[in-house]
Amino acid sequence: MNFDSMMPPDPFAGDPNDPASFLEADEPLPPLSDEERERVREDLELVGEFRRALEPRGVLGVFFMCEDCDEQHYYDWDIMAANMRATLAGELSPVHEPSARPDPSAYVPWDYCLGFLDGMEAR
Ligand SMILES: [Zn+2]
Repeated sequence: MNFDSMMPPDPFAGDPNDPASFLEADEPLPPLSDEERERVREDLELVGEFRRALEPRGVLGVFFMCEDCDEQHYYDWDIMAANMRATLAGELSPVHEPSARPDPSAYVPWDYCLGFLDGMEAR
């Protein structure tokens, strides 16, 4: 007795709209909420301040630990600002386009920049 023939067929077999394939789909970004836009604008402003304060000291940008790649990504000030402007414009920011051949010693974490600005204001 073969029960296989009594099983329902895979409802998505051969279906190009298999729900699993949507994970790969190039879907438009959901629009930012006002709150998210506000936060990105603030970050964009901060990047300008960080740059003014730190670029004269040889800091070229910021690095992040990327959870997707499990490695550090280095971003020049220009690239950071461009990513944020793209986000505000509703475009997918090229987050995986870090600087080519970065000098790791010329990049600092975001939190370091925040602390640096705080220190300058405290003086
Ligand atoms: Zn990454």
